[in-house]
Formats: sequence, C-alpha cells, structure tokens
Amino acid sequence: MKKLTIIGGGPAGYAAALYATNFDIEVTLIESDTLGGTCLNRGCIPAKYWLHVAELNHEIDTSNEFGIEIKDKKINWQQTAQKRFDTVNKLVSGIGMLLKSKKVTVVEGWGSIKDKNTVNVKKQDGDEVDISSDFILIATGSKPREIPNIKVDEKFIITSDTALNWEEPPKKVCVIGAGAIGCEFASLLNDLGSEVTVVELAKEILPGLDKRTSGELRKQLTKRGVDFKLSTSVTEIKDSKVVFSDEENAEFDCVLVAVGRSPLTENIGIDQNGIKSTNGYLEVNLETLQTNVSNIYALGDIVFGTPQLAHVAFAEAISAVTHIATGKSSPINYKAIPYVVYTRPELAEVGINSDTAKEQGIDIKQAQHSFAGIGRALIQNQNQGIVKVYSEEDGPIIGASVCGPAAGEMIHELMYMVGWEALPSEASEFIHAHPTLSEAIGESLLSLNGRGLH
Ligand SMILES: Cc1cc2nc3c(=O)[nH]c(=O)nc-3n(C[C@H](O)[C@H](O)[C@H](O)COP(=O)(O)OP(=O)(O)OC[C@H]3O[C@@H](n4cnc5c(N)ncnc54)[C@H](O)[C@@H]3O)c2cc1C
Repeated sequence: MKKLTIIGGGPAGYAAALYATNFDIEVTLIESDTLGGTCLNRGCIPAKYWLHVAELNHEIDTSNEFGIEIKDKKINWQQTAQKRFDTVNKLVSGIGMLLKSKKVTVVEGWGSIKDKNTVNVKKQDGDEVDISSDFILIATGSKPREIPNIKVDEKFIITSDTALNWEEPPKKVCVIGAGAIGCEFASLLNDLGSEVTVVELAKEILPGLDKRTSGELRKQLTKRGVDFKLSTSVTEIKDSKVVFSDEENAEFDCVLVAVGRSPLTENIGIDQNGIKSTNGYLEVNLETLQTNVSNIYALGDIVFGTPQLAHVAFAEAISAVTHIATGKSSPINYKAIPYVVYTRPELAEVGINSDTAKEQGIDIKQAQHSFAGIGRALIQNQNQGIVKVYSEEDGPIIGASVCGPAAGEMIHELMYMVGWEALPSEASEFIHAHPTLSEAIGESLLSLNGRGLH
C-alpha cells in the first residue's frame, strides 16, 4: 500500500485526502489550525454568508416596489453573526466526519518536510512526531497580503480574516483594493447600510477581467452609493484619517486591506529540501503538480502561476492524487476555469476575454446581449448587465464574461463551450427555456453566429 502525507487541511489538502481513499493509499493529513482552511473558516463560506444576508436585506428594503410593505424591519446582529458561525461549524465538522469515515488519519500540528520521505509534526503541547511516506503533498495555502506602508492591527486596519467575524458591520469603511474580495465587501457593506469608499491603484476595478463587464459592475455599485477612487493609492493612515494619493483625505471607522493573498510556505522545509519556488510560490509541473522533487507535490494557493480559487484547489487535488495512484497524468484544463465575483449583481468570466485576446494578439469575434430585455430579469427587477461571448475569428468559443443576476451559475454553461471548444454555429443551435436569465446567453450566441434575434 502506498503512503501519502498531506500538509494542510484546506480545500486542496482535504480534497486530496478524500480523493486518495478511492485508491489503495494510506493517508495522513496534518492541519495546524482548523480543517477546511481559508475557504471554510475565513473565506468563501463566511464571505458568501454575509453576501446572502446583505442581499436578503436589500430584497426586504426594495419589496415595496412589488407592493409588499414590510414595517419595523430589525436586524438582530448577534443572531446574524451566530448563524454565520453555525454554518461554518456544520461544514467544518462535516469534513472531519467524512475524513474519519474514510479512515484518513488526521494529525493536529505544524508539518514541515524533514527529508523527501519524512514530515515532522510539532504539536501544540510541544511533542514532535516524524511521519514517513512514499509521497508528500504540500497544501499550506495563503494569508492576506499586506502593503508596506500600512500596518494591519486587526482592530482599525483589518483584513478579511477579521472582517468576516464582525458582529455588526462598521458604518464607514475604506476598502483598499478592488479585486474580487474588495468588491464583494463593498457590495455587501453597501447593502447592509455602510458608507463605502474603495481605493484601487488600477484604472478599472477587478484588474485582469474584461474591462467592459467590470465597468458595468462599477457603474451599478456607484449608482448604489459606493465611492470608487481609481488610479489612486493610500499614502498614509493617521489615527482614523486616511490620506489618498490624490491628496484628498477622509475619516473612517475601519480600513479593510484587500490587496490579494501571499503563499504560506515559510518554515515548512522548502529551501532545506531544494524545492524550487518563486516569491514563495512553489513551482510545479502543471501536468502532474509535482515539484522538482518528484515525490513531493504542491496544490492550491501556493502553486506558482495558477488562480487562487477553492475549485482550482479541488481540481489540483484530483489531478495530483491520480498521478500518485496511477503514475499517469490527468492535467487540468486551466483555460476553462470559471471565475466568479459574488457581488450584487454577480460578475463571472471563463477563458479569454476581449482585453486578454488583444494582448495575446488573438483575432476574435465577439457578441453581447444586455439583460435589459430579458423577461425573467425584468420580473426580478435585475435587468441591468450584459453577457459577452468571444470566439476565434473562424474558430471555437474561447471565452465569456457575464455581469448580471446569477452570473455565477450561468457561467457554467459557457465553461462547457470553452472547454469543449464549441463553434458558435454548434452552440447557437441549442434552445434556452423561456423565461430564464440564460436566454441572454442564447441571444449572444445567435449574434456571435452572425444572426441575432431580439
Ligand atoms: C474572503 C475570501 C473569499 C474567498 N472567496 C472565494 C470564493 O468565493 N470562491 C473560491 O473559489 N475561492 C475563494 N477564496 C479563495 C479560497 O479560500 C482559496 O483559494 C482556498 O481556500 C485555497 O485552498 P488551499 O487548500 O490551497 O489553502 P487554505 O484554504 O489556505 O488551507 C491551507 C491550510 O493549511 C494549514 N496549514 C498551513 N501551514 C501548515 C503547516 N505547516 N502544517 C499544517 N497545516 C498547515 C492552514 O491552517 C490551512 O488550514 C476566498 C478567499 C478569501 C480570503
């Protein structure tokens, strides 16, 4: 029986442990904190919980537009915060039970690689144990990135780690960074009644995503009252005053730093064992997820050059374990990974967008359709936004961007088209149910194929 030791029990590590039990592999999983990692405890799940509460609050506040009057709305913040912990705890204990039922040995403590077949674990009580195995998988994840001139104290200047534990959101917040995490916080805080300013160094929010679609989201958030300061940075924070590079300044109750994530690869034996890294990210063969030390694999947020997303971590877990178990590679299609920003409205993208196509010198055809005339969107009072689809000039669909209601669900239809390299003529043959939001995709595909309908 092969033996596998995994360091880190987040989405990459726990998924690898679970998937390995499909094969004849004895698995030990080491976790220094709480199973579920960033995603369950400090990321995806609590963030989406707060976004759901925010959307619910918005729905209630606007229900009078449908003739439903709700008087004396009150938010019991303590109960709201408690349900967030209950939701997370349910998922975390579910992972623990699943690992136990599949006979994965979970060891609590700090894992570090001693040599290519041994992991040392330092437990909280000071005890140490060495675990030997044929294979080692590193899945130690990431932490919030900090900015040199701004010292996070997790009181006034905080990161998402603390923000998601809020009992009650602050009234006036400055969010530094308009990436996915910054935009999600801006959207949810605005829906919960906070005053929000977002500072972003780039010219548009969500750098790297399609500018037209990101611009659409920015316009909608601006209309709701979010103040965006683009091409701007924070030069100084003095007590509660934030000074911006345009020389303006303002007082806030809280500053939330959301400028990306750094890999957690210190003190785990990387350099001592000659494992190659770039700026702390581990270099791997993307076909197999092996590092340059062939029986040591790396997955998830610590991998150099791949998106830091939970579903990428899951996919990498499957790919690496398949290689360990069978010796055959099972590469991930990194070109068809859905990317979702869970704002209101959502923004989602897959594949190449029109800006990246231009940068890469790819000639594309593109078509778009607005949600303005989509019946279902109008019924829901959410008829702002667009679907954009892109194909090679005379070839398959290579990408799509959606800003609108349920974009995060709709993107999966487009993911299959990109993954299976569907031609616009093939994809536009299929019929979308009426009335659905997905009709906006059907309409844009008809246009991409040269003959639009509405
Ligand atoms: C606010 C926020 C919202 C997010 N929302 C989304 C989203 O909606 N969708 C999405 O796909 N992604 C989202 N992400 C990103 C997602 O959380 C990460 O991509 C994902 O958690 C990465 O999984 P991982 O297993 O690589 O690392 P992690 O989840 O960080 O897990 C690593 C684990 O390893 C443990 N560990 C570290 N070092 C050691 C050691 N030496 N010994 C033992 N254990 C160790 C840590 O304690 C941790 O539990 C979000 C992140 C944040 C911060």
